[in-house]
Amino acid sequence: MIKITDLEKVYRTDLIETVAINKMSFEVRQGEFVAIMGPSGCGKSTLLNILGLLDDCDGGSFIFNGQEIAHFNEQKRAMLRKKNIGFVFQSFNLIDELTVYENVELPLIYNNIKPADRKIMVEETLEKMQIMHRKSHFPQQLSGGQQQRVAVARAVVNKPKLILADEPTGNLDSHNGNEVMDMLTSLNEAGTTIIMVTHSEHDAKFSHRIIRMLDGEKITENILRELDYIP
Ligand code: ADP
Ligand code: ADP
Repeated sequence: MIKITDLEKVYRTDLIETVAINKMSFEVRQGEFVAIMGPSGCGKSTLLNILGLLDDCDGGSFIFNGQEIAHFNEQKRAMLRKKNIGFVFQSFNLIDELTVYENVELPLIYNNIKPADRKIMVEETLEKMQIMHRKSHFPQQLSGGQQQRVAVARAVVNKPKLILADEPTGNLDSHNGNEVMDMLTSLNEAGTTIIMVTHSEHDAKFSHRIIRMLDGEKITENILRELDYIP
């Protein structure tokens, strides 16, 4: 599904150049759950932003679903992103002025889904994430665990092929963290590819494979379990 080869990203200001991604290469197969680990500043967020088509790269190749997209402009990236990718962040990033229901409905509005279909898709997803009983609440009225379940619902309501998660349990206690990891695992078992940045060795164990980074480079890849089937 994803193949990057010699990927490079350099941040330039007047005085300094920072090589954030230094000729990195790896593949992610459809249906895989991959964890990315490494110390602060090693380039994890930069990598996730590129994989999520939020940012461009400065060199190398990036194949997404069989298509070379390294040179796509922002408009083409946005189109591909809206259709294929859901994001989960450490800080939930819900919109405080919208209810749970409205937050989860938003990606469907962006994708021009008809209102009647939207209702079915939102309610089905809220049920699956066990947060239906809070659909009229606002984010600030929910516990952290509940907010992250809403954020996962928003990420998956559009049935994306790929979920990118950046420290999804970073702001949660271990109980709520495990609940979110269980949800990501069951989404993965249902066929969604997941790439997750984490500092937590515990969370990384839910994945098929751990990619470890240092100074913008991949240093190791450990396979934890084989992919059971190719969806
Ligand atoms: P991580 O997510 O692993 O902490 P980042 O991807 O945020 O690492 O950062 C990788 C490197 O790129 C760091 O040295 C960081 O300081 C630098 N960097 C990140 N974003 C920018 C930016 N917008 N401008 C300049 N340098 C940046
Ligand atoms: P958890 O045990 O999942 O961490 P909390 O103890 O934080 O949950 O909250 C218990 C219940 O109270 C939750 O169902 C949540 O929706 C509700 N709740 C928490 N904070 C607020 C709030 N500020 N306003 C309204 N309801 C709240």
